[in-house]
Amino acid sequence: MTPRTWAAVAFGVLLAALAVVVITRVPWSTAPAPRADQLAALRTLPEDAVSRGRAFHSALRPSSYGGLATGLLVALILGLTPLGARLVELAGRPFGGHWLVQAILGGLAVVFAGELVTLPFAAWRQSVLRDYGLSTQTWGAWAVDLLKAYVIGAIIGAVALVGFFTVTRLFPRWWFAVGAAGAAGLMVLLTFVFPVLIEPVFNKFTPMEPGQLRTDLQAMAQEAGVPVRDVLVADASRRTRAVNAYVSGFGPTRRIVVYDTLLEEAPAREVRAVVAHELSHAQQNDVVTGTLISALGAALAVCGLYLLGSWGGLLRRAGVESIAEPRAVALLVAVAAVAGFLTAPAQAYVSRRIEARSDEYALVSTSDGTTFEEMMARLATVNLADPDPPALEHLLFSSHPSTVERMAMARAWSRGR
Ligand SMILES: [Zn+2]
Repeated sequence: MTPRTWAAVAFGVLLAALAVVVITRVPWSTAPAPRADQLAALRTLPEDAVSRGRAFHSALRPSSYGGLATGLLVALILGLTPLGARLVELAGRPFGGHWLVQAILGGLAVVFAGELVTLPFAAWRQSVLRDYGLSTQTWGAWAVDLLKAYVIGAIIGAVALVGFFTVTRLFPRWWFAVGAAGAAGLMVLLTFVFPVLIEPVFNKFTPMEPGQLRTDLQAMAQEAGVPVRDVLVADASRRTRAVNAYVSGFGPTRRIVVYDTLLEEAPAREVRAVVAHELSHAQQNDVVTGTLISALGAALAVCGLYLLGSWGGLLRRAGVESIAEPRAVALLVAVAAVAGFLTAPAQAYVSRRIEARSDEYALVSTSDGTTFEEMMARLATVNLADPDPPALEHLLFSSHPSTVERMAMARAWSRGR
C-alpha cells in the first residue's frame, strides 16, 4: 500500500471514529418543545423586549454576514490564486526566504490579511453593541482586546505552522500520520491550557464570596457528583452588560464561571438554575465531547489535506508545487475556511442537542419550571436575544435552542411530571 492509500484509510477510520463519538455522546432524545408552547411563551415576554431584541439582531446582521462572506472570499482569493504564495514569498524575503521564516511570517501574513479585511465588520459590530448599550467598553479597551486576541492567535498559529511544516519536511511521504496525531494533541492541549492561560488574559476571576449562594452552588455540584475545583466570578461587566455562566477545562482545570453581571441582574434562584444547567455540562463531560470532536476533526483535516495534495489542478491554481511547502499555506487556510463554513451547521446542531440536555437537567435537578422560564426571559431581555429567531438562521448558526424553545421545553416538562 502506498502512503496515499494509508492516508485514505486513516481518513476513513477517523471519520468513523468521529461518527461513533457523535452518535454515542450526543443526546438525540431530549424533551420536545411544542410550537404551541413556544408561541404561548413568546406572548408572555414583554413586547418591547421582543421588538428590541429583533431590532438589535437586524442591526447586527449586515456586519455578521458581511464579515463572514468577506473573510471566506479573501481566504479563497489568496488560496486559489498564486497571490497567497506570493504573499508568503514576500514575507520571507527579508530573511533570505528560509522555509521556517516563510512558514511563520508567511502563514501569519496570510491569516492577518483576512483579519485586516474583516476588521471594519468587527468594528461595525462593536458600534451596534455600543448603540444598543450591550457593550460597556470604550473603543480603546475594545482595541486592546483585539490586540490581545491577535497576539494569542499569532503564538498558537506560529506553533501550529512550525510544527506542521517541520513534520512535512521530516516525513515528506508520511507527514499525514505524524501531523494528524500532532493536530489532535494540540486540540487536547488547548482545552487544558485555555482556562488557565488564555481566559485570564481577558478577564479577572475571583472565587465567589462565601455565603448562602456559594454554599448552595457547591451543594448542587456535590449532588451532581461533579468534581468542580471552584466557583469563580468573572468581571464580565468591564466589557458587557450581558449575563452568562459557563464551564471550561476538564480534569484538574475544570471550573464553573459565573459572570458578575448575572449576580447583579438575577435573583439567587435564577443563578442556581443557570448553574444547574452548567453543572450538567460538567456531569455529562461535554467539554470532553467537544475536545474529542475537535481533536478528531483536526486529525481528519490533516489527512484530508494530504489527500488533496495529489490534486494537480488545485496546486496549479495556487501556484505551488506541493501542499506541504510553506508557500501553500494560503491554500491550507482556504481549505480550512471552507471546511469550517460547511461543517458549522452540523456543529451548531450538535451543540443545540447538548444544550437541550443541560436544560432538561436544570429542570429536573431544581424541579422548578417557573424559575427556569423566568431566568430564560431575563437572559433574553438583558442579552437582547431574538427570542424566536428566523428559522433558517437558527438552523444554520445557533449554538443554543431559542429562548421560546427553551421556555416551551420547561412548560412541556412541568406538564409531564
Ligand atoms: Zn450550556
